[in-house]
Amino acid sequence: MATIDDIHVQQKARIYRVATLGAGIFIHLMVCWTVMSIGFMNISPVELFALSSLSVAGFVFLAVLIGIEWNLTLEDPDMAVPQMIWALTVVVITSHFAVDLKAVVLLSGLAMLVMGANRLTRSQQIFVACYGLFIYMLSVMFLTHVDALGWVTEIVLIIAFSLVLFFGPALYQFERNVIETVITDKNEELGKALEQIRELAVRDELTGVYNRRHLMEVLGREKAMADRKNYTFSVCYVDLDYFKKVNDRFGHATGDDVLRSFARVAEHLVREVDCVARIGGEEFVLVFAGTNEKDAVRGAERLAAGLKDMHVTRAEPRYRVTASVGITEYRQGDTIQQLLDRADRALYDAKRTGRNRIVVANGDVTSLSTTI
Ligand code: GH3
Ligand code: MG
Ligand code: MG
Repeated sequence: MATIDDIHVQQKARIYRVATLGAGIFIHLMVCWTVMSIGFMNISPVELFALSSLSVAGFVFLAVLIGIEWNLTLEDPDMAVPQMIWALTVVVITSHFAVDLKAVVLLSGLAMLVMGANRLTRSQQIFVACYGLFIYMLSVMFLTHVDALGWVTEIVLIIAFSLVLFFGPALYQFERNVIETVITDKNEELGKALEQIRELAVRDELTGVYNRRHLMEVLGREKAMADRKNYTFSVCYVDLDYFKKVNDRFGHATGDDVLRSFARVAEHLVREVDCVARIGGEEFVLVFAGTNEKDAVRGAERLAAGLKDMHVTRAEPRYRVTASVGITEYRQGDTIQQLLDRADRALYDAKRTGRNRIVVANGDVTSLSTTI
């Protein structure tokens, strides 16, 4: 829906266009004056003055119609067709007084048509072209001093003018469409590249899960929701146990594979509204949206179960990695740092009391030793 402001901007642009076209015609007539003064035109100064006044008056009239917003009642408020018709009429009439330069003057018609090509639909273009041809034929019949150019030249001119009328705007539009297609394709590519850049900016390079920056954004959003309404969420701080040993025993590359596999397991486990982020070497944070501590513990248990199924290396198929998890639910008034610190302290407790377990910040402990 266009606003009043939009309409004013559009109306201004329309007046500007009419004025430009009027100015174009005015320049065209000025050139005619000059041509006349050096003897190439077969028109009296009075006739040319009358024609000039009439044509300029036509554009002033159209501008006034736009000024009083009468055009807004029309199907095409741009009034592109009347403008084209008026411009073509003036060009065609003057061309018949410019005996030797008739073809050159007719070319001005092409300039008018190209200007209108952007505004007119295909059928309007054909209509305007037919009108141009019609008025040209009329002028040939009633205005031309037949002997001046001879019929053969007249026929050649009619054919040339028809080609210009019908194919000029079409060629212009064809070229414009090609350019538009190229621009659209480039824009799409640019959009995709931007999307990729955005993704890269919030993803962890090694594992592909979110990074700390995105985690902070997610936590900020969750906190804002929890502060506004009856809503809660929980945070799981996960640290893989004895990960250094994995590196030492199987090599850093295997360690990297384990981190990637863990990330996949975690991503697979959470819902779309949740978030998995890697915040350090072998440390991850899971945000369970709309979830209390109790349900978050279930999520962490499923994660531990996933780890039980996760192979580390073919060399030792039975080798498994375990994790320690600290869990806390958001408490009203928490800052994000307080929330993360509480989860971290719970994780520390899990490490301290033997690893491979889930500790909730309220003191509950779930030992996961049976899952190995
Ligand atoms: P804990 O059970 O106390 O957590 O012991 P840990 O060995 O897991 O913890 P520690 O902090 O002693 O060692 C973490 C190790 O994680 C050390 C480091 O080499 C390894 N690490 C950190 N980032 C990466 C990484 O990107 N790739 C690999 N392969 N290893 C990493
Ligand atoms: Mg660690
Ligand atoms: Mg560790």
